[in-house]
Amino acid sequence: MRRFFVSPQGIEGEKVYITGSEAHHLVEVLRLKEGDQVIIIDGTGLEYEVRINTITEGIVKGDIKGVTSSTRDTSVKVTLVQGIPKGDKMELIIQKCTELGVTKIIPILTERTVVKLDNDKKKKRQERWQKIAQEASKQCKRATVPEVTEIIKWEQYLNSIDDGEEIIVLWEDELTRGLKSYLQVKKKLGSLSLVIGPEGGFSPSEITQLRNKGAKTVSLGPRILRAETAGLAALTMVLYELGDLG
Ligand code: SAM
Repeated sequence: MRRFFVSPQGIEGEKVYITGSEAHHLVEVLRLKEGDQVIIIDGTGLEYEVRINTITEGIVKGDIKGVTSSTRDTSVKVTLVQGIPKGDKMELIIQKCTELGVTKIIPILTERTVVKLDNDKKKKRQERWQKIAQEASKQCKRATVPEVTEIIKWEQYLNSIDDGEEIIVLWEDELTRGLKSYLQVKKKLGSLSLVIGPEGGFSPSEITQLRNKGAKTVSLGPRILRAETAGLAALTMVLYELGDLG
C-alpha cells in the first residue's frame, strides 16, 4: 500500500485530511481514486490504514480503518551533527542516514566549511533537506521523519550542548580511542550525538572547544574517510552496537 505523510493536525477523529504536495502526488502522479486504501503516517510513530473517501480541490479526505504503532524506529536516538560538505553531498548523507535510522540532523558551519550561504539559501536548503528526509522515510517505511534543523554556526552549536550530553566527535587524529571499543563499554545509551567535520576536518581549536564541553574524540580507523562516508560509517556502527541494525 502507498504511504503518505500528514501533520498530526491532519488527523481528526476517524478522518484524515491529506493536502499539499502529498495530495498532489496521490491524485496527479499515482492517480489513486475514491475507495483505494493507503497508509498514512503522522510523524509520531503511528501508522493509519485509510480508505480514500473524497477528493476535492486538492484535498484528499479519508476514513481511518485501523491504527498501529510502528516498530521500525530505533531505541537509541542518534543526532548527526554534520559540517556541511561541498556540492550536494549533504543530500546523500541525509537520505542514507534516514534509511539507517538517524533521529535528528544538525547541519553546521565550521571554521573549514567552504560552502557560503545567505539566509534565503539557508532556508531553502533546510526545506529541501527536510523533504529528502521525508521521502527517504517513506521509502524505508519509517513512521517518523528525522528533523533536519536549520543550518547553524559553530558557536550556536557549542552553546546548545547540554551538561551531560553524550557527544562523540569523529576525529581522524585520535590515536588511542576507537569508536568500536568506545561503544562496546557503553552498551546502554538512550541518546547520543555524532559530530563529523566537513572536507577540511575540524581545526585544533574546535576539537579543544568540544572536549571542554565533555565531548569524546574517537577514531574510525587508520584510513581517512570522506565527510559523507564518515557519518554513514559511524551511524552504522552505533546502531549495530547499541540499536537494531543487523
Ligand atoms: N582534513 C582531514 C585530512 O585531510 O586529513 C580529513 C577530514 S575528513 C575528509 C572529514 C571528516 O570525516 C572529519 O572531520 C572526521 O569527522 C571524519 N573522519 C574521516 N576519517 C576519519 C577517521 N579515520 N576517524 C575519525 N573520523 C574520521
